[in-house]
Amino acid sequence: QSAAVDRLPEALHATFGFNAFRGVQEQVVRRVLGGASTLAVMPTGAGKSLTYQLPAVLLPGTCVVISPLIALMHDQLRSAEANGIRAAALTSADLDREQTIDRFRAGELDLLYVAPERASQPHFRDLLGRAPLSLFAIDEAHCVSEWGHDFRPDYRLLRPLFDEFPEVPRLALTATADAHTRADILTQLGIPGEGLIVAGFDRPNIRYVIQPRDQPVRQLSRLMADHPGPGIVYAQTRAQVERLAETLSGGGRTVLPYHAGLAPEVRAANQAAFVASEDMVMVATIAFGMGIDKPDVRFVAHAGLPKSIEAYYQETGRAGRDGDPAIAVMLWGADDFARARQRLGELEPDRQPGERQRLDALASLVETAGCRRAILLRHFGETPPERCGNCDNCLEAPGVVDATDTARKLLSA
Ligand code: ADP
Ligand code: MG
Repeated sequence: QSAAVDRLPEALHATFGFNAFRGVQEQVVRRVLGGASTLAVMPTGAGKSLTYQLPAVLLPGTCVVISPLIALMHDQLRSAEANGIRAAALTSADLDREQTIDRFRAGELDLLYVAPERASQPHFRDLLGRAPLSLFAIDEAHCVSEWGHDFRPDYRLLRPLFDEFPEVPRLALTATADAHTRADILTQLGIPGEGLIVAGFDRPNIRYVIQPRDQPVRQLSRLMADHPGPGIVYAQTRAQVERLAETLSGGGRTVLPYHAGLAPEVRAANQAAFVASEDMVMVATIAFGMGIDKPDVRFVAHAGLPKSIEAYYQETGRAGRDGDPAIAVMLWGADDFARARQRLGELEPDRQPGERQRLDALASLVETAGCRRAILLRHFGETPPERCGNCDNCLEAPGVVDATDTARKLLSA
């Protein structure tokens, strides 16, 4: 293991072609290589996969990765294999299950992806007992907590399983967890408090712009005109997606729709076109984005109010993963808030206070005359500077002179 730690930069380059770690990646990898269980809270796009994939390559035995969605698993699998990592998934969709099990037992796999439902079955436990293990990685670890936004009961069965292999370290990964959820994840997965590593949430290259939805088509067309690179426009319903995709088409730019109502092969084709394209615009419901690895998205627009600050952060976080300037534009209307309040009233009484808090937090982000980024970061427990200089309110503020044309035009739209 110390040998592995010594040649970390070489291994990083040899496996992924990267010249340097980003943010807390190295800290996480070193802890894991040292055999210590860890919870890493890193924003979307921060590079969580690498923190288990690199140890998986360097340590003898297989890293078992718990992943909640088959689609997500197969994306990860493809990118791992593209990097020459020996990886497989154990799902009902994979026909080569026998072969995968043989390779696993023979220690010929670096990574084995598995869904929590399968992981918690007795015969999987038996299989683990007969294979060399290096690490348990738990992706989307907030699913283990009822406080998180995506509770999956099967995640609760993981700890008893892991506890049978006490010598195997655990690495839990999530992008969205407030303090309460973090504490819960540590307990539920049996990770010591000192194993918590939180990355900064700031995405300084993303410019945040939030404005009333006066003339949505005009506002979005202008955004597209100013940003020739790939972009995503989130709309709230399938019908809105269809309508906007239609309206925004033309002008020499491909604009395609994406929502859960489209045939799977259409969805897959549109997604593949987007990933390959240098200028396409995808108009989509929030069904689009999870697990999509496209670093050069230049803008993300919300044609209506997102569900929560967490959702907003996650969705806008798909812009500018390459670190180059990108912009996130939210268009909102008073009717969005009216509808959200109405939905709130229809919830079971015990869910109302929590949801009301989410909506209030979102309202304060929309209504502030202060720095948008400061509100976002404070929401995630960080202490930001008073003004970021790269959101609409900061750029508009008196004395700030470096507003670009784009921001000025958007702001006057
Ligand atoms: P997350 O799961 O945290 O959302 P991913 O693991 O999918 O993020 O990584 C996001 C992108 O960042 C991927 O394209 C990945 O190849 C890239 N990436 C990760 N680490 C590095 C690094 N150290 N240097 C450059 N690119 C990186
Ligand atoms: Mg990920």
